[in-house]
Amino acid sequence: MIESFIEKHNLPKYRLNQFNEQFYKQAIHSFDELTTWPKDLREQLKKELEFNSLIPEKQVHSQKDNTTKVLFKRKTNGQYIETVLMRYKDGRNSICVSCMVGCPVGCSFCATGKLGFHGNLSAREIVDQVMYFKRQLVKENQTVTNIVFMGMGEPMLNLKEVLGAIDTFTSPEKLAMSSRRITVSTSGYAPQLKTLLKTGFKGKLAISLHAPNQELRETMMPVAKAFDLEQLFTVLKDYEKQNNKIITYEYILIDHINDQEKHAKQLAKLLKNRLAHVNLIPYNPIFGVDYKRSSKNNIHKFSKILTDAGISNTIRVTMGDDVNAACGQLAGQAG
Ligand code: SAH
Ligand code: SF4
Repeated sequence: MIESFIEKHNLPKYRLNQFNEQFYKQAIHSFDELTTWPKDLREQLKKELEFNSLIPEKQVHSQKDNTTKVLFKRKTNGQYIETVLMRYKDGRNSICVSCMVGCPVGCSFCATGKLGFHGNLSAREIVDQVMYFKRQLVKENQTVTNIVFMGMGEPMLNLKEVLGAIDTFTSPEKLAMSSRRITVSTSGYAPQLKTLLKTGFKGKLAISLHAPNQELRETMMPVAKAFDLEQLFTVLKDYEKQNNKIITYEYILIDHINDQEKHAKQLAKLLKNRLAHVNLIPYNPIFGVDYKRSSKNNIHKFSKILTDAGISNTIRVTMGDDVNAACGQLAGQAG
């Protein structure tokens, strides 16, 4: 990265500051636009450092809900990954980043999981997904307001690179985003979550829960067998203590699997007296899986049971499902 270039050429610290200012904050489109550096130094940089680690291959936009999905090719080995920009009416521009090619966890309902695991992304590749959209947004006098690790992959199983990317997002010299604007979503790797907390992580946490009891969760998410709900909630209690922040629990509603009255009641009991918000997600059908989306009626009934029990919850409006950019549909081919 840039730091090793600066070191190798024995450049003064202000060259690094100039680089960070133009590359990250102004979001320039090539090293030729690094105008605070003399031309010969710029040329040297071009020889030694790639401007981008990802090549955008295809971009699909959904008019319906202002979602843009981009298929990127990795320069290192030609594999494909996907990233989604969600533009909300309230002005937020949220980017859903991938941290892996595929995913090794294999949850029964997830398109990415069906692909299997094909590699970890580097911190640079995670950052470059965000920079791609930032360059577009800056042209419209806008910027990236939120980043969510909800694309392809399990962040806890690529923690070092994920932490490296978060460092670039939050570092005052680089993207200077508040950690409150960054959400890490995990299917529940308790030991790695503990490690994340030890780093002093101050971002938001989303837990892919999807079932209100251990038995059902094990049938949907293999990780549940290794780390049970008790272990998971022990770590989450530490997060609550450390950060005093609400944890979001993602709960996909699948017809007749986890959407019955008894499930809602169990969930309410499980989350009682916790700093919790439940995101109810209507299941997005994926190819080759037999599940169906819960009926509107069941979704609302489920939500009402939680509300009546004092559990804060929202029903997620599924964004981008006309371009397969909705959650769990990121399967590595655009369109
Ligand atoms: N591996 C992490 C991060 C990816 S997040 C995690 O699982 O949390 C992907 C989000 O989309 C998760 O909340 C996941 O549970 C959800 N998801 C996966 N498949 C889905 C589907 N078919 N319909 C709706 N949501 C889905
Ligand atoms: Fe991996 Fe998350 Fe999909 Fe499970 S839901 S297979 S952990 S990406």
